[in-house]
Amino acid sequence: MNFHDLANPNLADLQPYVPGKPIAELQRQYGLKQIIKLASNESPLGPSTAVQAAIAMAVQDSTLYPDGNGYLLKQALSERFDLAPDQITLGNGSNDVLELIARCFAGPEDAVMFSEHAFAVYPIATKAIGATAIEVPAQAYGHDLSAMRDAVTDKTKLIFIANPNNPTGTVVSHAALKAFLMALPSQVMVVLDEAYLEYHDNPENTLTWLADFPNLIICRTFSKAYGLAGLRVGYAISHPEVADLLNRLRQPFNVNSLALAAAVAALGDEDYLTRARSVNKAGMQQYEQGLREMGLAFIPSKGNFICVDVGRAAGPVYEGLLKEGIIVRPVAGYGLPNHLRISIGLEQDNAYCLSGLAKVLADD
Ligand SMILES: *Cc1c(COP(=O)(O)O)cnc(C)c1O
Repeated sequence: MNFHDLANPNLADLQPYVPGKPIAELQRQYGLKQIIKLASNESPLGPSTAVQAAIAMAVQDSTLYPDGNGYLLKQALSERFDLAPDQITLGNGSNDVLELIARCFAGPEDAVMFSEHAFAVYPIATKAIGATAIEVPAQAYGHDLSAMRDAVTDKTKLIFIANPNNPTGTVVSHAALKAFLMALPSQVMVVLDEAYLEYHDNPENTLTWLADFPNLIICRTFSKAYGLAGLRVGYAISHPEVADLLNRLRQPFNVNSLALAAAVAALGDEDYLTRARSVNKAGMQQYEQGLREMGLAFIPSKGNFICVDVGRAAGPVYEGLLKEGIIVRPVAGYGLPNHLRISIGLEQDNAYCLSGLAKVLADD
């Protein structure tokens, strides 16, 4: 049997997503006790107590299917962000929603566009549906919106833009983004992926743009600043008719009941979010200063991570850090072979990571 011949031909060109190495895996490999993971842009704060209480309550109903419409979470999001519930599509992480959008709007005859150094899920979602991926070269590691505009053809159905971008942490200004939307043919759908929105100091409320740009879909997640990466919950905000289309493709119970309850609690826990922002801000300064002292270049970031140019092939440096019990993220697969992406952690973990990096680079 040749299963590759039997499989959907779109899979031939598909590479699996490579996640950050789990702590337990490194423990098994090297028998290390002390390990810090700064590899997946997770919250370093641990779960909020409000979230833990909500999960403990929700687990009592875990023999029942979740509310397939996510009524309470949609209500909470509507109130928090002044939206209509029928604009919201919930997902098993925003990954789920990104994939639903690709399946909804593009097929084998179509092109889907994203930037060089963009989030790995965009090419995966594109290739899985057999669409043509158009990767537009970046400018100073970030989105080159005018080049992206110029690359649009009548085959272009969908454009993914992460702001801030992962793994680079770059941002496009809201003025530039708005100009881009205005210049774009209105039948091209645009996904604005705001996974790191909460770390932005004064973000403009892009939700108000939806009235002017019905082709805009905004994606957000509870995985980063809200600290729920393990529970898998994210959402899209769009025109209600777009939400209706996504809902036809969505698995009926794509967000589990613990995640739904946790997300409602997380949304109400302002203190946690404030703490996430301030710990991140302090940690970012710690890295910027430490890296400057080491003479290492980095890409200025507005996310909860920083991409460091280690000045040589980053693979061996990554391996050296693993032996020190430090997990960061190699980003060669994102076209950045000399960079490592480090998630911002707690002060002592950041300090340990910086000194580990200095040690590994000196040993080399
Ligand atoms: C982390 C991340 C997401 C969120 O993924 P989830 O599936 O919600 O955990 C989405 N987009 C980008 C750019 C990310 O970095």
